Amino acid sequence: MVKELACRKCKTLTTSRICPNCKSKDLSPSWSGLVIINDVDSSQIAKILGITKPGRYALKVS
Ligand SMILES: [Zn+2]
Repeated sequence: MVKELACRKCKTLTTSRICPNCKSKDLSPSWSGLVIINDVDSSQIAKILGITKPGRYALKVS
């Protein structure tokens, strides 16, 4: 399995070198806590993390 990278700006997880969400190249291999957001409006986690789109995100990025 390919190790995913987490975007330091928006916490999106990706296997590419550029964040598909915010186009940032500031990606980190060290992250923890996988969060899957399906419904942004009803998700408290999405509100806390500032997530505005459904997708897979890291809880912590270092
Ligand atoms: Zn991003």
